[in-house]
Amino acid sequence: MKKITILGSTGSIGTNTVAIIKNHPDLFKIIALVANKNVSVMLQQCEYFSPDWVAMKDKKSADILRIKLKKKKIKTQVLSGSKEICTLASLEENDCVVSAIVGMEGLLPTLSAIYAGKTILLANKESLVTCGDIFMRALSSHQAKIIPIDSEHNAIFQILPHFLQNNLGKENLKENGIKSIILTGSGGPLYHLKRKDLPFVRPEQTCNHPNWSMGKKISVDSSTMMNKGLEYAEARWLFNASENEIDILVHPQSVIHSMVEHTDGSVLAQLSLPDMKVAISYAMAFPKRILSGANFLNLKKFKCLNFFEPDFTQFPCLKLAIDAFSSGQSAMTVLNAANEVSVSAFLNSRIRFNKISEINSDVLISSSFPEPTSVEEILEIDKKTRIKTEKKILSLVY
Ligand code: NDP
Repeated sequence: MKKITILGSTGSIGTNTVAIIKNHPDLFKIIALVANKNVSVMLQQCEYFSPDWVAMKDKKSADILRIKLKKKKIKTQVLSGSKEICTLASLEENDCVVSAIVGMEGLLPTLSAIYAGKTILLANKESLVTCGDIFMRALSSHQAKIIPIDSEHNAIFQILPHFLQNNLGKENLKENGIKSIILTGSGGPLYHLKRKDLPFVRPEQTCNHPNWSMGKKISVDSSTMMNKGLEYAEARWLFNASENEIDILVHPQSVIHSMVEHTDGSVLAQLSLPDMKVAISYAMAFPKRILSGANFLNLKKFKCLNFFEPDFTQFPCLKLAIDAFSSGQSAMTVLNAANEVSVSAFLNSRIRFNKISEINSDVLISSSFPEPTSVEEILEIDKKTRIKTEKKILSLVY
């Protein structure tokens, strides 16, 4: 039986993970659950699983949860705060830690699990892209393992030979018969919208993805294609891929979740319906496969599968991310921070949709930091960029 802690258990990835565990009580046991403020979902999860530990980042929410659990005579210990979340991520009992907190907030708990030598089931791409080299080195030096949950990276992971699966990010792709990695993406809910209409996009439109059901931040990222940019950076680190070894294709049906092109001309793809339970269950049960609870793919229902080059003019955030990755770690950390702040401002109706890419670009161009050599320096870049981005947003007339 695998013992699991879920960071971000009340979110989209978290609740899908919980659903899989409910179907396989013989295979998985929850040790600890972590969230921010969602007391009602956390309470339901505690009632069902009675985990040993829970942490809510928000202290007030932790206090409310504690009272409700006491009334129901549930013995789960409730903690709160960042330090306590890191403690739960590194508990000795954990075999696996699902990293599914949204955004940069996921970095320290994920690193904490890595330092404790755990197997990380990684959904939180922001922690890897903001901290790439330090993150990958920490995996090696602490004998921690990583299995990607992000559907594209999970697809590639499924295709890779065992040797590369067990040595992620360390080996040369070409020497292992791989010519390139082809990341696919749906193009997001606004793919067919005209450029002139972008300023009038409302937050709820971005959260109405045609294929996937996801949290709010990643839904906006999917609409700007910043998500694909972050995934580009994630793939460069995870698979040790050079600039020439990654291609991006828009594939509106979201049936193929990514492909690997081999040196002999073979292209292998992973297909399924767009349901994150496929990727999550694969990561959880690896190296075995289990029933995920997702529906099965019926290819007869698809008249065709299309593929297009991404349009960098329509989606400047994708190009920004690719360029930032080439510039170095500090640029990527800056872009991620600017994006988290501008996406949050858009979701709170403080800026228009088209301003997200403009703000991200302005902040990136006007920032210059030395290359970070420690997590503390990464956090400093992140903090300074957030302040700068917020100032930029305040200076805009809506
Ligand atoms: P959601 O917004 O649905 O969920 C986020 C989770 O993180 C919630 O449990 C939330 O708690 C918790 N959380 C937020 N802030 C904190 C904090 N400071 N401390 C502790 N917990 C916190 O996000 P998603 O599930 O959509 O995405 C999570 C991550 O997975 C992201 O990095 C995303 O890019 C990645 N991902 C998501 C996919 C998807 O299909 N959703 C696909 C691939 C990757 P609360 O509910 O209390 O606010």
